Formats: sequence, structure tokens, C-alpha cells
Amino acid sequence: MFACVDLSPVTGNVVTRFDYQHMGLSVKFFSGATQKHSPFYDARPADSQISLLVIHNISLPPGEFNTSGIAQLFTGTLDPDEHPFYREIAGLKVSAHCVIYRNGEIEQYVPFTARAWHAGLSVFQGHSRCNDFAIGIEMEGTDSLPYTDAQYSSLQTLSAAILDAYPAITVGRVVGHNDIAPGRKTDPGPAFDWGRYRRQLFLSGKKFSTI
Ligand SMILES: [Zn+2]
Repeated sequence: MFACVDLSPVTGNVVTRFDYQHMGLSVKFFSGATQKHSPFYDARPADSQISLLVIHNISLPPGEFNTSGIAQLFTGTLDPDEHPFYREIAGLKVSAHCVIYRNGEIEQYVPFTARAWHAGLSVFQGHSRCNDFAIGIEMEGTDSLPYTDAQYSSLQTLSAAILDAYPAITVGRVVGHNDIAPGRKTDPGPAFDWGRYRRQLFLSGKKFSTI
């Protein structure tokens, strides 16, 4: 079990440590996030390299914001009697590494080094089981409602820190859930401004290689 503390040195925005298993610098927690604990994670396969960033959306109940539903779902404490929709999903064991709320606040539920359960059945460039090698970020929102400026700002800061820590995630390996689970998932939806997000990443000096 991971405790939400890390005694490793702090470098800039992120807490770093040398990961002997993967023989490189790795980051467990984003220092700009409120750390929470989800029970819904496990270890990544030993031969996996963190090399994909997946953008999702979620709102609980659907279309309602600033509720505690997401935190309850990811911590396994959703009350099925609180809303009819919760009855359908209360038993789900799902998580993401981070959630970005409408006001830009970031919560982290799973250390980046561990496998969060966000992508489900998925494939990227012929590689299935994307959770093995992906980091998942949930934007509080819906497919059709524009995300907020505060969310884009936090997403850019968080993404830049992740791409710095995990250089195998190039900008071409930043995708939507819909890209890796087509026909099954639509998030983050047409409301998500990929041009704006990629431009921000480019301006912060991130590579555009798709390899
Ligand atoms: Zn999703």
C-alpha cells in the first residue's frame, strides 16, 4: 500500500526519486495536487514503460459540477442512495491518477508509478491494456460543455510536469480516452480544445515527436 508521503527530494513542481526497476527518474506525486487515496490501483507490469497520457472527463451526477461524487467514486465511498445514477455505478472499481475540477483544483488519487484503473478495454498503436503504461487525467466536465480556463491552465502545468518526468510521453502520445477506446468511449468529447492544449504544451517546449 502506498502512503501519501514521500521522503524523496523535491525538484521543482514534482517529487522525484530514482526508480531502480525502470532505471530512470520517476515521479510519484504532483506537488500541486491535493493527495487522496484510492484503493483502486495495482502495480504496473515490470516491463512496462510509462509512455502515454490519457485525457478523460467525468461529472457526478452527470452534468453536475462541484459535487463530492468523483472523490467518493474513486475512494470507493459512493452512496448508492444519494442519486439514481449512483445506484448503477456504486460498485465500480475505477480510478484515475488525477482529477482537475472546474476551478482548476487538482486532486491525485494514485501515484504515477502505480497503475490506475481508468482506460478499460483499450489499445494504442497496437498495444492493448493501456492502463499498464498510461497516466490518466480526468477533467470534471461533459463532452459538450466547454472546459474552463482554470482547467486548461492546471492541465497544462500538470501535463508539462508529467512530460518532463516521463520523456517517453511525447505530445503525440497525449490522447483522449476516445482515441484508445473508439466506439466505446467519447470523452473528453468535442468540447475539449485539443488545439489550445497542444499549443500550450508546444509553448512550454514539449516535443512533438510521435515516436
Ligand atoms: Zn474516460
